[in-house]
Amino acid sequence: MLLTDVALPVPIARAFTYGVPGDLAARVVAGARVVCPFGGRRLMGVALSVFEGEGPRGVKAVSRVIEGVPSVPEDLLAFLRDLASYYFAPIGEVVRLALPPLERATALEVNDPMLFDEARGVGARVVKWAAATATVDASAEGALRGQTSAVLAHVRALGAEPVARLVARWGNARAAVQRLADLGLITLEDRPAPEAPAFADEAVRDAPRQATPAQAAAVLAIGGALREARGATFLLHGVTGSGKTEVYLRCIAQARELGRGSIVLVPEIALTPQLVASFRARFGDDVAVLHSGLTPRQRYAMWRRLRDGEVDVAIGARSALFAPVRALGLVVVDEEHDPSFKQEEGVRYHARDMAILRTHRAGGVCVLGSATPSLESEQLARTGRAVKLRLPDRARSQPMPRVEIVDLRRMGAGPTGDRRISLPLHRAIEDTLRAREQAILFLNRRGFAPSVRCEACGQIAACPHCSVALTFHKRAGAVVRCHYCDFETALGARCSKCNAEALSLEGIGTEKLEETLSAAFPEARVARLDRDVASGRTVDAVLARVRAREVDILVGTQMVTKGHDLPNVTLVGVINADAALSMPDFRASERTFQLLVQVAGRAGRGDVPGRVIVQTWDPEHPAGALAARHDVDGFLERELRDRRELGYPPHARSALIRVDAPEEPAARRACAQMAEVALACEAGRSGRVLVQGPAPAPIARIRNRWRFRVMLRAADRPPLREALAAVDAARGSLARGVRASIDVDPVQLL
Ligand code: ADP
Ligand code: ZN
Repeated sequence: MLLTDVALPVPIARAFTYGVPGDLAARVVAGARVVCPFGGRRLMGVALSVFEGEGPRGVKAVSRVIEGVPSVPEDLLAFLRDLASYYFAPIGEVVRLALPPLERATALEVNDPMLFDEARGVGARVVKWAAATATVDASAEGALRGQTSAVLAHVRALGAEPVARLVARWGNARAAVQRLADLGLITLEDRPAPEAPAFADEAVRDAPRQATPAQAAAVLAIGGALREARGATFLLHGVTGSGKTEVYLRCIAQARELGRGSIVLVPEIALTPQLVASFRARFGDDVAVLHSGLTPRQRYAMWRRLRDGEVDVAIGARSALFAPVRALGLVVVDEEHDPSFKQEEGVRYHARDMAILRTHRAGGVCVLGSATPSLESEQLARTGRAVKLRLPDRARSQPMPRVEIVDLRRMGAGPTGDRRISLPLHRAIEDTLRAREQAILFLNRRGFAPSVRCEACGQIAACPHCSVALTFHKRAGAVVRCHYCDFETALGARCSKCNAEALSLEGIGTEKLEETLSAAFPEARVARLDRDVASGRTVDAVLARVRAREVDILVGTQMVTKGHDLPNVTLVGVINADAALSMPDFRASERTFQLLVQVAGRAGRGDVPGRVIVQTWDPEHPAGALAARHDVDGFLERELRDRRELGYPPHARSALIRVDAPEEPAARRACAQMAEVALACEAGRSGRVLVQGPAPAPIARIRNRWRFRVMLRAADRPPLREALAAVDAARGSLARGVRASIDVDPVQLL
């Protein structure tokens, strides 16, 4: 009989076999979405293969086929199977990565009409637009206040604008819009929603500019590999401001001429409105921008257009790697060093590593771009598995910014009285404001104060569910919040342990920095960018305000370090360069170096040279000292040597096994069991796999679960895989309530 193996959305590693009824035989093909009975339910899955065979006894039959065209093209399907095997991840969960992202698991059940009714509904949604009328009413307009008159001016300038965009820009625009409508100055009308809303960019078509010689050389090399179609990887190492985007654009244009599609991966789409705007300017509507602001229906429409070959360029965060782009020829990973390319839950894949795998399978080209290459990519280049291309200078020959190190041990507080705004930084901010230029201040802690201590008994307020200090947030209503489980409570006047009225706020977060600066520089307009202010749309709005020079000082977490190109920013201040160094992670030094070079790279991109002030308690640390000299090669050399001595990646392969349970002893026991399994296999006994642990995780408890871990390391992959296979098999027999996960090539060690 005709059988099919189906990947179902259940956390069981294997695929499930079903019979194919005769009337469906023509339509059940590898990659097609099918509905199958499972337990008492019917689930939607993806057929992995179709074959003739003797069905297992009582084999159930596929109940329907959703569409005859494979939802997951065959090459993508084969890539997903490799990925599942590489990460020891259930194939059903991996295949889901490639389906139109329906956020809730239940949406995969068959009652979701979207899965069936494809023609209907897509694009039928309407959105409200505000359109200017011909009415002019001088007396009424004269009485309008700031925001309302700004909205009116904006709508008049553009003729009409979606209300949602006005709200994204002005926050309170809804009231203003209503007021203007009541006055007859604008009308509100429903218009059909575009299938794929552009970002708030004015997508003007732009012609390629004259490439710099270094850009041209890079494009030539990558273009050559595209034509050869043999599978190649390039590491595009270009200093901050060297114009990597232009290289990507030209390579994509070449791929299109060859009839091949492209994917561009960026760390976070909301933080890269400029990059997206450049792509839309060059390719118009031929680009699918996959961002979190899309409704499920819009995502679905995008996914269809890509699969059907109507659009051949996709841009998005890591999950865009699974876009069903036809005849994939090129994958660009911009800011390839960014840790967000690693998914830290569910299927723990690394989009950069998998981008290389996918392009090589497709005979395509993978371009990894960065000003601060990861050690992994650098090692690829040194071992001949990637070709390094350099853009050594800024695109318009601007000088790299001058970096000054301020030793916080020696330097007292500036005029604010706060040591964390040293005198040199204070003076530099004054100079910048006076010159009407802009400053970015980077501090890697959000909230107002990172911890609250009782000065009577010494206790630090901790989360009741996690072994983590609570952060004080002033704006959110004077609450303390856990950044791991989002537990939140009002900050009382007394210590919960000794009842003394002696609580004091310790440390500084972005909220406090913003407040301190506003008080010290009352004439300056200060804005903040961190996860507390930032959902996708507000990020865009904040960055738009900075670009429009409506902000003088931008304060923020690592969100301000990303690839922003803001020509009027001439000063960058790093409040505490050492913050990232204290993390229990062998990559702490690399991460610190990358953050410093990246944030420094925001300065002086326009005509006025930039200046960077790095405050540190540890001025001798090589990460800071090398970053101050923009010495990326020196850092890579040194760090690779240190890693080799310690046997850490990229000189070794590693995997982390995490175990957690509601009771500490159960978690410890289960973790010990996993370690024993790894030691007992051939690779473990022969010492080809090094087993470290069981050990408590650096954060011992999160969400009421105790956490332990085992680290496995090996010189090469086969022994590591052998040990992981043994652990994977043993996972099934763990006690109830105990969870164990496998993280291959871990990035976050927490
Ligand atoms: P990177 O991502 O390498 O930091 P960007 O791609 O953001 O750099 O480019 C930096 C700036 O240089 C941008 O303002 C861009 O418009 C400009 N630029 C890039 N290439 C050229 C070029 N060939 N000629 C003139 N300006 C360029
Ligand atoms: Zn918590």
